[in-house]
Amino acid sequence: MIIRNVTVIDGQAAAPIADAEVVVTDGRFSAIRPAADARPAAGEDPVIDARGGYLVPGLWESHTHLSGHAYSKPENKRAEYISQLLTDFLNVGVTSVVNLGGPLDIELAVRDYRSTATDAAAKLFFAGPVFTGIEGWPVLSDPKRASIAYQTDNADVAYRQALELADQVDFIKCIYDDEPGAPDKLPLDALKAIVAAAHEKGKKVLVHVHERTDLEEAVASGADGIEHAFRPQDPSSTAEAHDVAALLAETNTYYCPTLVTWEQIANNGDAGYLRQLVDEGFATHEDIPQITSRPIYGREFPRHSARESRVRFDYAMRTLALMHDAGVKISAGSDVAMLLPAPPVALLRELRLLAKAGLPMPAVLAAGTRHSAEKIGQQTTSPGTITAGSVADALLLDADPYADIAHLVDRSHHIGTLRAGRPSWEEGHPTA
Ligand SMILES: [Zn+2]
Repeated sequence: MIIRNVTVIDGQAAAPIADAEVVVTDGRFSAIRPAADARPAAGEDPVIDARGGYLVPGLWESHTHLSGHAYSKPENKRAEYISQLLTDFLNVGVTSVVNLGGPLDIELAVRDYRSTATDAAAKLFFAGPVFTGIEGWPVLSDPKRASIAYQTDNADVAYRQALELADQVDFIKCIYDDEPGAPDKLPLDALKAIVAAAHEKGKKVLVHVHERTDLEEAVASGADGIEHAFRPQDPSSTAEAHDVAALLAETNTYYCPTLVTWEQIANNGDAGYLRQLVDEGFATHEDIPQITSRPIYGREFPRHSARESRVRFDYAMRTLALMHDAGVKISAGSDVAMLLPAPPVALLRELRLLAKAGLPMPAVLAAGTRHSAEKIGQQTTSPGTITAGSVADALLLDADPYADIAHLVDRSHHIGTLRAGRPSWEEGHPTA
């Protein structure tokens, strides 16, 4: 298949290629070249018109928890339900979804279901159960939540569990959050053992943190990615952000601040926030009653207070640009979508917030594509770029995303997606 009449933004450092020709073979990009170098299509190659649009790599939601949404469904409907969510993600331009912890049986069932499904959907990557302390977050004392975590206080046991789990999942997730030595916190030697086991198996490890010391210990343990903006000791100073940035950049550790989560917990119950979501195109007036009738609406979130979340949100918004300038690779993930109309929109909101925080547009795009792919070790086959040899996942926009973040996150600018080489927009449409 050949795609013509398109500007390609490949998601790497390269300048956009105006009037390009993109060749897709067996679901992968096989050539990207200026139209001046175009080759005549062989008789059987379909040629599709990209309508003068901008082709960017397919977006990545690199921190979400879809299995939680499926629990209310009957067991034999859960895989189908999550598969439908993956189709919904694709419909907003997200071609890859990273599930950061959930029951392994549901995730494996989804993988099975997708292996024979014929409809198009985002690709799912998953961690299986997370590692945490005894009755640690997010299990606490709720036995119903036991299947979402390995609760451990023993490094040897954790090491063996991680070795076994690593063969079944795409990467490993640890929760490293609470006062040092607290029984519900994963012990530091267990964290180190889990990272060692995962790395032996060639898998990446992402670590959920709370305080700056959690982050530093996770990095020292060999974590590949840090999940969640840390809570600063002194929010009035950017000194901690500078220190953390130097550490993350030096160790090449990815940083996923999950701004959307802190924004939502901080504003839960605030009608003004919902109006802002409507004004900025992330919800409609019709969505509001559905959102405000959710049991969580206006209630205290477990573990994280609104006040603490406000501090984490404001601090991250103020310091992410300096962290980017220091060389930190930021990835885009939204975590929970409790005040958004549906989970897929949360990633678009995250990208909008990264732009608001002052990241240059190429860095926002890298966060929502390449950095998220690299974070879980997918740089070879699904690297989040438009490069020869990679899986042909892309999003076609009707305007230049580098000119305005709205061209990327406002769905009215989405023409369609390419998922493993399958286009969602109609062929043969007249050029815009
Ligand atoms: Zn999470």
